[in-house]
Amino acid sequence: MNPIRKIKYIVIHCTATQPTATVESIKRYWKDVKKWGDTPGYHYLIKADGEILTLLDESKNSYGVYAHNSECISISYIGGIDNLGKPKDTRTVKQQVTMFSKISELLHKYPNAKVLGHRDFPDVHKACPSFDVKTWLSHYQLMF
Ligand SMILES: [Zn+2]
Repeated sequence: MNPIRKIKYIVIHCTATQPTATVESIKRYWKDVKKWGDTPGYHYLIKADGEILTLLDESKNSYGVYAHNSECISISYIGGIDNLGKPKDTRTVKQQVTMFSKISELLHKYPNAKVLGHRDFPDVHKACPSFDVKTWLSHYQLMF
């Protein structure tokens, strides 16, 4: 186990795949294309049906955010692009519910952590997670 990590950010991602992509195909991409071995891109992965998978223990670094991985916990939903491959918020209602509850749980555990989208980090030229995290969180909370 790594020394205890100081979690500064809870980072939201999309897999930048179709929402129908399988967990296996995503893992294969990390291993074969990105050459990340068995280390995943995220700690948590949320399927279209809302099921959340733990891919990595929170004590370990994932490959979520370049140069910031030692201080991040990364959560991703499967999806994030439309049929033409353009960035799109494809989250199902169930994915949103799961995402929100996971963020709440992590904020209890790491009260000083900030919740950011991947693209909110400086020098990130990606649309990930294909929606504005801050705006979504403020509206989502209003629903309750
Ligand atoms: Zn990302």
